Amino acid sequence: MPDDCIFCQIVAGDIPSRTVYEDDTVFAFLDVNPLAPGHTLVIPKDHHETLGDLPDDTAADVFAALHRLAPTVEDAVDADASNVAFNNGEAAGQEVPHVHGHIIPRFEGDGGRPIHAIAGSRPDLSDEELDDIAADIRNAR
Ligand code: AMP
Ligand code: ZN
Repeated sequence: MPDDCIFCQIVAGDIPSRTVYEDDTVFAFLDVNPLAPGHTLVIPKDHHETLGDLPDDTAADVFAALHRLAPTVEDAVDADASNVAFNNGEAAGQEVPHVHGHIIPRFEGDGGRPIHAIAGSRPDLSDEELDDIAADIRNAR
């Protein structure tokens, strides 16, 4: 683990956190600077920077925890819904370089916006360009 990783230090217990869930591979705790009551971060215990760096089994474990925790967090704060998202890489706004999924409870009329609000200006793509992008992704798998 990198010595300077805040989230590795939280997993190790060297930095305190309001832990809400822990198993062999996954750790979840309240965000210290919450966007909503119940804002929770779900992380792999091992240090990996982005989603693409995660081994398959760890990725499955992280998603399983998100899947279990999202409704639990919503219920705990009596939320109407939640946004579940990753800032995946620095250009996408990731500040802590240890993979973490955000569970952000949402409430009717809370003034927040959908995930579509996070991107910059929308690209103007032709059908052909969309076809090419889809083919590139499909063929790279
Ligand atoms: P991101 O911008 O996706 O990298 O989000 C990092 C998140 O980590 C932010 O929402 C911070 O409020 C949160 N955070 C940073 N340090 C801590 C900490 N010591 N305990 C809990 N949450 C933290
Ligand atoms: Zn780390």
